[in-house]
Amino acid sequence: MPGSWTNWAGNQRAAAEPLRPATVDEVVAAVRAAAGAGRPVKAVGSGHSFTPAAVTEGVLLDLSRLATPVRVQRASRLVTVPAGMSLRDLNDLLHRHGLALPNLGDIDAQTIAGAISTGTHGTGARYGCLATSVAGLTLVTAAGEVLTCDAAERPDVFAAARVGLGALGVLTSVTLRCVDAFTLRADERPLPLADVLAGLDEHVAGNDHAEFYWFPYTERVQLKRNNRVPADDRPLSPARRWLDDELLSNTVFGGACRLGRAVPALAPAIHAVSARALSARTYTGRSDRVFCTSRRVRFVEMEYGLPRAALRQAFAGLRRVVEALPFKVLFPVEVRFTAADDIWLSHGYGRDSAYIAIHQYVGAPYEPYFRAFERVAQDLDGRPHWGKLHYRDAASLAPAYPRFADFLAVRDKLDPDRRFANAYTGRVLG
Ligand SMILES: Cc1cc2nc3c(=O)[nH]c(=O)nc-3n(C[C@H](O)[C@H](O)[C@H](O)COP(=O)(O)OP(=O)(O)OC[C@H]3O[C@@H](n4cnc5c(N)ncnc54)[C@H](O)[C@@H]3O)c2cc1C
Repeated sequence: MPGSWTNWAGNQRAAAEPLRPATVDEVVAAVRAAAGAGRPVKAVGSGHSFTPAAVTEGVLLDLSRLATPVRVQRASRLVTVPAGMSLRDLNDLLHRHGLALPNLGDIDAQTIAGAISTGTHGTGARYGCLATSVAGLTLVTAAGEVLTCDAAERPDVFAAARVGLGALGVLTSVTLRCVDAFTLRADERPLPLADVLAGLDEHVAGNDHAEFYWFPYTERVQLKRNNRVPADDRPLSPARRWLDDELLSNTVFGGACRLGRAVPALAPAIHAVSARALSARTYTGRSDRVFCTSRRVRFVEMEYGLPRAALRQAFAGLRRVVEALPFKVLFPVEVRFTAADDIWLSHGYGRDSAYIAIHQYVGAPYEPYFRAFERVAQDLDGRPHWGKLHYRDAASLAPAYPRFADFLAVRDKLDPDRRFANAYTGRVLG
């Protein structure tokens, strides 16, 4: 469809071609014009959500050209950037000033506004989701007002808008509480699943950032542990990085997925080979370059945040789901950890979390898999990632979030006419 918008995974579309405002005044004008015409408005980031979170039948605002002032306060480590800046550009900017974000997810393609709005997170038992690094926000409300908020000024808006699902207004700038730039030492190694599960508490508590990938139909995992170290004395050679992160993780893996999709019976063997093909490696590097890699093999994903104590039960349930499916799972399962936070719609609100992310290669069947795992996770008080596929609605989500009603009250105040609503917010917020 010419002029239309599609997300990264290709499973969500909007007919409208995005407007690309370059100034806050242009954002205000776009919101006011939409209000005048009775049309809904949605800001879109880099389209990396699998849910229709950014889809609209009204006006789509792409903020990648929005040039609000960049402000770096080196002493306090507070950095203000345009909301549509990509994490990659943000990481480079921070690095130039000797700063970094304390934690990141698997990729850096998202915008900062899009990432925080859905509760994007990395792994690390002592670290909350990305939105926990936000110290202040500026947003354009439905009335076309430019509103600022932080912990002291409009604390209710701040508690709601850091993970706001794009439902409270258009974020135009974000102030982040950063840390001094740091080096990570990555240790990645294949291990038996039983060993990793047995030593999990130690892995999680004893490392800055621990996670593992399980290869379905096998008893093998790839354990990844990243820890802060003083010196970048063991960098990965460009050849090894290319071999592991481009050739094996993207080109060969993509080929294996295509093969598994064409001949599903081969999936268990492909997982077994993948689990064996991954070798151990230890290297050091700039934090964001260790946290983030490129993902070129397209997939769809569901991810559930769970109370940390429920992980083993959820994982056992997942294994039963995988065994019972009438088709094969072609992608590994990722398990991560975050610290509790106080952001009303954050998956980590009020509790230390474990996350289980399940994926399927594009074009392969996934819905029965995702629905069956959702039943397991929901029974264990799981909260679905707002940017990843799930089937929950407001009635089932409200009891999972103690401050759900408070979030809705802020929305009623900021957007009484639901200018920023779409079908997705209608389903998950009511
Ligand atoms: C390959 C891949 C890897 C991923 N890895 C991780 C990971 O490691 N950890 C994790 O937690 N998630 C991960 N995700 C999910 C992803 O981080 C989230 O879906 C994130 O929201 C995408 O950011 P985006 O900039 O693409 O925003 P979009 O998907 O475009 O938008 C997301 C939401 O933010 C809103 N929004 C965007 N900009 C604004 C704005 N300026 N003002 C108000 N609202 C706005 C949109 O309306 C929408 O509701 C991954 C996704 C992919 C495809």
